Amino acid sequence: MISSETRICGLIGDPVTHSVSPVMHNAAFDFLGLDYIYLPFAVTKDRLARAVDGVRGMNIRGLNVTIPHKVAVIPFLDGLEPLAERIGAVNTIVNDEGVLTGHNTDAAGFLKALLENAIEPGDKQVVLLGAGGAARAIAFALAEKGARLTILNRKQELDWAVELAGSVSSFSGRKVKALELNEPNLKAALVPADVVVNATSVGMSPNDGQSPVFRELLRPGLVVFDIVYSPVKTRLLSEAEQAGAVTVNGLDMLVWQGALAFELWTGAKAPVKVMRDEVVRALGGISFGGVVGAGERKTTSVALVGFMGAGKTAVGRVLAEKLNKELIELDSLIVEKAGKSIARIFDQEGEIAFRQLEMEVTREVAGRKNQVIACGGGVVLNKINIDRLKAEAVVVYLMASPEAIQERVAGDAEVRPLLGDGDKSLAIRELLAFRQPFYRRAADIIIDTSKMGIEAVAEQIIAGLKKE
Ligand code: NAP
Repeated sequence: MISSETRICGLIGDPVTHSVSPVMHNAAFDFLGLDYIYLPFAVTKDRLARAVDGVRGMNIRGLNVTIPHKVAVIPFLDGLEPLAERIGAVNTIVNDEGVLTGHNTDAAGFLKALLENAIEPGDKQVVLLGAGGAARAIAFALAEKGARLTILNRKQELDWAVELAGSVSSFSGRKVKALELNEPNLKAALVPADVVVNATSVGMSPNDGQSPVFRELLRPGLVVFDIVYSPVKTRLLSEAEQAGAVTVNGLDMLVWQGALAFELWTGAKAPVKVMRDEVVRALGGISFGGVVGAGERKTTSVALVGFMGAGKTAVGRVLAEKLNKELIELDSLIVEKAGKSIARIFDQEGEIAFRQLEMEVTREVAGRKNQVIACGGGVVLNKINIDRLKAEAVVVYLMASPEAIQERVAGDAEVRPLLGDGDKSLAIRELLAFRQPFYRRAADIIIDTSKMGIEAVAEQIIAGLKKE
């Protein structure tokens, strides 16, 4: 409940409508029961000075700063924390009794994301694309860890890259190259590279069909880190994955830079899983690699949810074998209990009776350990089912596009009573649109299976479980 005691944090930038920071921070405040609120403020360049003064005037606790103010805001602050000063860009402001200090959590957020993905940058040959605000933070973070850097920026603003390379060189004592971002330079730089980081906005929604790196230059063993987080899986990452490269998306960095800002404002340890969970939901629920977060729950089972044709049983079988767990199929248990097929239950007793049976079998199996539970498509409609499953299981939503579902269900001998006798394509779209929010709400891990084989989905679930 908002009161006169509520502390205000926020984001200044132009635009701010796309930002997921409000949902991420407000979820974290709620989770810890902190009397804080986070608001987005659209601030144009000409209003920046007055906006910053308003922070003092209204005793706002802190701000995040985004495009285009990360550098421009510096003259209006009372001081800079040393890293922000070195980087020359601020993404977080802390207000202590009217004294505003600028911080940069992008740098540490980037490093946290690297380490979380088991990538140690020390002595690695890194190609950094871009020389904007985020690239500056990343360049200093990498240099501090002993990486060998080459910075590529497009021709019009090559000066930025040259200036950045010079500053990083004098800080680290290692030569940093600055080159124009074009095909020959990219090719030459990538041959000896261990890691390439995209810190340009190329590939960012709505231009998500673009990639800053030619597909032919991607190869197995190369680490490709795209800090763009919308979409979570950019074209660059998609192509890198196909080429067998190791991929890291922008989501972890986004969450970590937010978590570090949160800690500066509140002094409390940030609930990182809660923040990640909210970000994934806000970005449409699709987490590349897919971890939403099972929080602090100790789980030994996995429950697979999703629409008919999503592959719950087939993936469940492979997963159970790989994890050495028992496979339980809820629909088979229902058939066993009722002594008749699902189509016949629907036909003779109706959907309500079927849902009742579904609830009973869910209750019976939910608390058991070391199972892979392939759930029926409608299990998520009843929150009690999900609460019961979550007591012992990580819930994985196997997502699939309507087209993929139609293709998979077409070759299926099983009768699907909910699709009726009419236009199957329309029935799938309508039912999926209705159920999608239920799946997303239930999920700890979300995996888009539309273009993936059974083995690959199982492997991605295992990777997601390891992150938990
Ligand atoms: P910025 O300061 O505006 O810098 C943008 C960079 O992208 C510049 O180097 C710019 O080159 C380059 N660029 C833009 N369009 C290009 C094109 N068509 N071809 C080649 N280069 C192009 O923005 P920023 O704050 O650094 O953010 C860059 C991206 O990182 C954004 O997508 C942002 O959302 C993302 N980001 C992610 C996180 C995270 O936590 N994951 C954090 C910060 C930023 P010029 O210098 O030539 O203009």
